[in-house]
Amino acid sequence: MKYIDIRSDTVTQPTQEMREAMYKAEVGDDVYDEDPTAKKLEDYAAKIVGKEAALFVPSGTFGNQLCIFTHCERGNEVILDDSCHIVIHEVGASSVIAGVQLRTLKSDKGVMSPQEIRSKIRKGEQDIHFPSTGLICLENAHSNGRVIPLENMKEIYEIAKENNIPVHLDGARVFNAATYLNIDPKEITNYCDSIMFCLSKGLCAPVGSIIAGSKMFVEKAKKRRKLMGGGMRQVGFLAAAGLIALEKMRGRLYEDHQNAKYLGNELSKIPQVSVNLDDIQINMVFFTLDIGNADEIVSFFLDKGIKINAPENGMFRFVTNYWVSKEDIDYVIKTLKDFLSLKVR
Ligand SMILES: *Cc1c(COP(=O)(O)O)cnc(C)c1O
Repeated sequence: MKYIDIRSDTVTQPTQEMREAMYKAEVGDDVYDEDPTAKKLEDYAAKIVGKEAALFVPSGTFGNQLCIFTHCERGNEVILDDSCHIVIHEVGASSVIAGVQLRTLKSDKGVMSPQEIRSKIRKGEQDIHFPSTGLICLENAHSNGRVIPLENMKEIYEIAKENNIPVHLDGARVFNAATYLNIDPKEITNYCDSIMFCLSKGLCAPVGSIIAGSKMFVEKAKKRRKLMGGGMRQVGFLAAAGLIALEKMRGRLYEDHQNAKYLGNELSKIPQVSVNLDDIQINMVFFTLDIGNADEIVSFFLDKGIKINAPENGMFRFVTNYWVSKEDIDYVIKTLKDFLSLKVR
């Protein structure tokens, strides 16, 4: 059975073109630096985000954690938003891998206050009790579905530079952010020293993420990638799909955004739904359902051929992607209406 899957954009299957490219990929042992396809992907990825070098990594979590591990010393403090992916969804890895302390700030829908960041920066040499701030992490697009304004990134980056602190961007969906802002991704990555972005989300590659930064940073990260068990041998098979993700799939993300807007609009016409249409900036629609117990909704949808996640903190999240059409969205809306009419009876 073919399901409509709106749980996430991570569920995207590779396209036929990716499958063919993977089949035909020229590969070698990448730990020996001999995989031409991985090299090609890394060179192209670095160019797109305007950095000197890039590195293929197994996942977004791996990439973020590798960057923290590469920028920081053990015992450093990392300043970041308390609702970001690194804090909420990465299993506490920063304390295990890099051995750092996360200094979380409350944000306004993902937007941190530059002044507050400035006030939280610490230098170990100032006081025997203090750790040193080793890194500031930003996230754009934010996993709350919103895009952080460039001006905010710029202000934070300038404060970081004044204090000689690197900035890492969790750009899992940086191309969604660039699409929303209608700018070149380099305008975003201008304000970070390292970036991680995902190939395996809305871009449809089966596996993998990229980290990018200066040549020196990526050299150091490569050694630490090996330490973390991320030295992959004939990884070109995955890189081949990643190349198509970057070449062919970035330019169509606006379709997912349009579909998300359409979905949000249709949802907003349903009385039991609360949805903030201003929050729909990329491919994600967050909403609440005012119906008391919605426990059976996941299995109801599954019976109708639609995969959704149960709400998290009371919020549903539906995500559009390459494999979800406008007609599919009409069917999702119809299914929700059917579910609600059953609840009334
Ligand atoms: C998905 C995601 C990640 C992690 O990617 P995985 O490949 O799932 O490990 C990191 N940051 C953000 C903002 C994400 O949305």
